[in-house]
Amino acid sequence: MMYDQNFGFCRGCKKQIIWTRTPAGRNMPCDPGMITFTAGAGSETFITPDGQTKRGKRSEEGERGYIPHWATCPNWKQFKK
Ligand SMILES: [Zn+2]
Repeated sequence: MMYDQNFGFCRGCKKQIIWTRTPAGRNMPCDPGMITFTAGAGSETFITPDGQTKRGKRSEEGERGYIPHWATCPNWKQFKK
């Protein structure tokens, strides 16, 4: 399956981000590197390539997803509405 690889840059920290689209049609900025995680095993937030939000824990095997950029951005709060 092809996913939309829509890159951009964070206004807060100038790092590269990738935009994913949630099922509700909202754009969600994420860190570009894909992470493997096990859903339901922890409380970290992951965004799947098709934009779903899942909670889980990083793991060697499992589902693939992105870390939402607000989880790592040092300047995200100043852009929150
Ligand atoms: Zn940022």
